[in-house]
Amino acid sequence: MKITFLGAAGTVTGSRYLIEFSGRRILVDCGLFQGLKSLRLRNRERFPIAPSSVDAVLLTHAHLDHSGYLPRLVFEGFKGPIYCSSATRDLSRILLLDSAHIQEEEAEHARGHGYSKHAHPEPLYTVAAAEQTLRQFESVAWAEPLALNGGLKATFLRAGHILGASMIHLRHERVTATFSGDLGRPRDPMMAPPSPLPPSDYLVIESTYGDRKHEDVDPAAELDGLISRAKGNGGVILIPSFAVGRTQSLLFQLWSLKKAGRLQGLPVFVDSPMASDVTDLYLKHPSDHRLDPQQCREVFGIAHYVRTADESKALSARKGPMILISASGMITGGRILHHLRAFGGDPSNAIALAGYQAEGTRGAQLAQGAESIKIFGEYVPIRAKVARLPNESAHADADEMLAWLRLAARPIRTYITHGDPPASAALAERIGKELGWDCTVPEQLGAYEWNRPVIRN
Ligand SMILES: [Zn+2]
Repeated sequence: MKITFLGAAGTVTGSRYLIEFSGRRILVDCGLFQGLKSLRLRNRERFPIAPSSVDAVLLTHAHLDHSGYLPRLVFEGFKGPIYCSSATRDLSRILLLDSAHIQEEEAEHARGHGYSKHAHPEPLYTVAAAEQTLRQFESVAWAEPLALNGGLKATFLRAGHILGASMIHLRHERVTATFSGDLGRPRDPMMAPPSPLPPSDYLVIESTYGDRKHEDVDPAAELDGLISRAKGNGGVILIPSFAVGRTQSLLFQLWSLKKAGRLQGLPVFVDSPMASDVTDLYLKHPSDHRLDPQQCREVFGIAHYVRTADESKALSARKGPMILISASGMITGGRILHHLRAFGGDPSNAIALAGYQAEGTRGAQLAQGAESIKIFGEYVPIRAKVARLPNESAHADADEMLAWLRLAARPIRTYITHGDPPASAALAERIGKELGWDCTVPEQLGAYEWNRPVIRN
């Protein structure tokens, strides 16, 4: 087997790994680059190999930095199956169609306002391309080896993280390899812990939080502080949030505050047409998370769900106090932009950043104390209190990753990907020092042969 790192190398987005074996090609993940403009522009570059030469895609989970390039791959000629877990398939339907809508809207908006450098800004892909992509999805059972042409076996194992998230174990002849995908946390209140790492000759592991430890703070307590403030000054708590995973864990925390009598007089709105669809998936895939059906209904029942654009506009004009959760999580697009424009200038409001904010995103600019944020080509002043909600990540931190790895057999080599360079370097160093494992932090387009040396006695 040979691996080529087509993305998530030197950066935290754009997961794309090419595996070649027996004259065949598969991709593990095919995600979008997100964040800095220099990264986003990579989505517009020619794909490094002919998409029509790819036999199949194995998808770890539905987040767009792992799946969001698929419609472009299909548009450019990829015709093979896309294998993933059943919940990933359902979530991808929601996320890829939404992504395509946003691509179309942004191209339309840029055309209308003339702020694009391009005379005819085109979407990266269309809704039609996303729909074709979804027809190529095939769901795979957990922990059952899937036999692919060319003698490759792929096994999907639970990774925690978000609904349906998998790590993928490959076997080709005598060589085995595991991709961690995005690795969840051992004690997440909603998601099950990651499966044990199976014995693997090669390991590709993410490092989003490779240089950090999640603070040991109760995130509901942080929210409670903002809630008291909003009750006092009638402000709006604006929470940019991923519609999948993060929004549900926020609702779980708000549910626990509601049970403690803390939410009185403070309505919760989820302004994301996706969020109630996602909620239904928690009921449809009960074995993929820890909540029972009754808890599911209670947790997700605390919010008002806003679907139409008119309702969303009405919400931007509404007075506080209220809690408003809206996508996207790093404020890179979606309805949160309109709400930030409406509420960001008022010091009685608060903006609660609920997760990882990739370099270059509006979320990161806010976290760094930016006094104004560019939205739709205009600068909007920010006077609202900017708060960070800690410890809500769907990713394991460095200690948690080390604890998970420590229980596994030593691979021949471990590749550290999916992190900002300092995070990847720090994780590589710890794995080397504490476990004695050989690590490589691959560069973009780095390629490695995966063999198994014959052991001599
Ligand atoms: Zn993810």
